[in-house]
Amino acid sequence: MATLTVPKVLTHKDSEMKQEIDTKETPTVMKALQSIEDPELRTRLLKASGDPREFLNVYINGQNVNHKQGLQTQIKKDDQMYVLPAISGGSDVPPTLSLSNLTDEQRPALLQRMTRPLNTAVNNEFLKEKEDIIFDVDGTLMDISERLNLCDAMYDKNNRRDTWWNLFLDDKMMMYLDQPNKDVVKMAHRLHKAGHNILVCSARNERHRITTLWQLNKLCKMDWIKGLWLRKDNDRSPDNIVKREMLKTIRSQGFNPAIAFDDRNSVVNTWRSLGVQCYQVREGGF
Ligand SMILES: [Mg+2]
Repeated sequence: MATLTVPKVLTHKDSEMKQEIDTKETPTVMKALQSIEDPELRTRLLKASGDPREFLNVYINGQNVNHKQGLQTQIKKDDQMYVLPAISGGSDVPPTLSLSNLTDEQRPALLQRMTRPLNTAVNNEFLKEKEDIIFDVDGTLMDISERLNLCDAMYDKNNRRDTWWNLFLDDKMMMYLDQPNKDVVKMAHRLHKAGHNILVCSARNERHRITTLWQLNKLCKMDWIKGLWLRKDNDRSPDNIVKREMLKTIRSQGFNPAIAFDDRNSVVNTWRSLGVQCYQVREGGF
């Protein structure tokens, strides 16, 4: 059911007016306004002709209907309709109300109502914070497309899955075929230089530790990372589950990662759901 809300500033009472709108009977903004049950409020908002008074703005789901079809805008099921004074008392101003919506007369009045003086210094201390930042390996720091291509060329992934995986996870394949994703590696270097802690988290197995460190140290020149977290050798859980558990370990070791760089959609979503802001470096719908 759609709803119509009129704030206290217009009801002249202790509470706002909230009314459900039957969109079949009152399909437009105009009809909805005319359907206001409280006669006193209706008279305050509408002229004798039934048109709304000039000082009102009507919003549907936060958007001014003047940017839609005005009073003839259709109301849909579950729409939230708000009637607000054209210059409102602050808390009733929806976030989408912008200075550009206002007339030349209204604009100075609204500016005057803004509580923070324009010359107040913004606190920029947050820019100095040092972060613990996670980087993934396969598909993020390292380009593994050649390794993938070769495995696909040699084996059918679906019919000979184990064989495909054995080749894909072969250390020599990693060492010969993987190349740094230069843009991502550069980003890691810049963040390291700026004083942040770089943590590397991969769903590769522990048995790939030496190879992975070789890639990080020799190919990416990242011999300053704070740690490398890997999947246990016998663990076959999906990558996102592995990374979720890794985050627990990392936190228990005193780090507090706020940012991660990763590529795979499921992992990106997991980081975000765990409160880690994730920057996705490549398409990751696999
Ligand atoms: Mg990856």
